[in-house]
Amino acid sequence: MITAAPSRIQPPPARPAARWQALWREAVRDPRELLALLGLNAETVGLDEAAAAQFALRVPRGFVARMRHGDPADPLLRQVLPVTEEMRVVPGFGLDAVGDAAARTANGVIQKYRGRALLIATGSCAVHCRYCFRRHFPYAEETAAREGWREAVTAIAADASIEEVLLSGGDPLSLATPKLAELTDALAAIPHLKRLRIHSRLPVVLPERVDAELTAWLAALPWPVAFVIHANHANEFDADVDAAMARLRAAGAQLLNQAVLLRGVNDDVDTLAALSERSFAAGVLPYYLHQLDRVAGVAHYEVDDARARALHAELAARLSGYLVPKLVREIQGDTGKRPL
Ligand SMILES: *Cc1c(COP(=O)(O)O)cnc(C)c1O
Ligand code: SF4
Repeated sequence: MITAAPSRIQPPPARPAARWQALWREAVRDPRELLALLGLNAETVGLDEAAAAQFALRVPRGFVARMRHGDPADPLLRQVLPVTEEMRVVPGFGLDAVGDAAARTANGVIQKYRGRALLIATGSCAVHCRYCFRRHFPYAEETAAREGWREAVTAIAADASIEEVLLSGGDPLSLATPKLAELTDALAAIPHLKRLRIHSRLPVVLPERVDAELTAWLAALPWPVAFVIHANHANEFDADVDAAMARLRAAGAQLLNQAVLLRGVNDDVDTLAALSERSFAAGVLPYYLHQLDRVAGVAHYEVDDARARALHAELAARLSGYLVPKLVREIQGDTGKRPL
């Protein structure tokens, strides 16, 4: 489970905290405060304390500001609020739905697909997404950043088939930029690496994270960078997010979006079309639309495959080809994400 430990992402005392770190610390963590901010009451939204105890609420205030006041069905609220349905035990929804534990090759390194190594850079996230497949993963022991990234860098250096390193998590941009630079400085000495990929929800949920220090680091990297953001609904974009995307692009990153198909959040064609169009307006190409990973506590978000395919076909019939994400599911043991 991802329980953010803000104390671990603080810079050393000599270095003043960046503005994004202050905003991170000020995130809403009390469900009742969140509901009060939105003019809602706990009973009508199905707030559940046991679900909150299992996977804590966490949401930056800037993201809360994009939620509609007084709307219990708001698509952003539904992604972060702990509700009673999570506590239902549903057959087929287990603890490690995607086989991460089996694919671990070194401390914090997961290698499932040809040419790519995924680093679990950290277990921390600025937002806790209720549907997240990593909510049950034992992160505390598993981050690649431990001991100056030594084990992960050694494993990557030793395998010449790895051309691309993916920074994932948790959210890799939870780490302070100097910590990320420590990794990329070490990786720069490995001749077989051709690309770097960063998977982060931070530019959307806390756009202040894309500060001058981060973009200077990005712009100086020796590889082309694919930056995969994660937005599930057009309402997640606002002017601050647009500006963050523009800064990432100016630093040379290729921006892509992955979304998860979620019942009650984005499971209709108008909403999915709006997401693609809004992403593109921000300079981001749709990449993947994921079918939910079947982990315990997320069954109420599931959209069945037949409906998912139908929605995807409607989307393809409506939008320019480059605005249609690939509909995929991750299946344990596959050589890549499986198209539906
Ligand atoms: C999803 C994933 C990747 C990246 O897959 P792409 O199809 O290239 O986006 C790489 N490694 C792991 C372990 C993954 O889960
Ligand atoms: S979806 Fe991403 S940002 Fe959200 S909790 Fe999971 S890893 Fe963290």
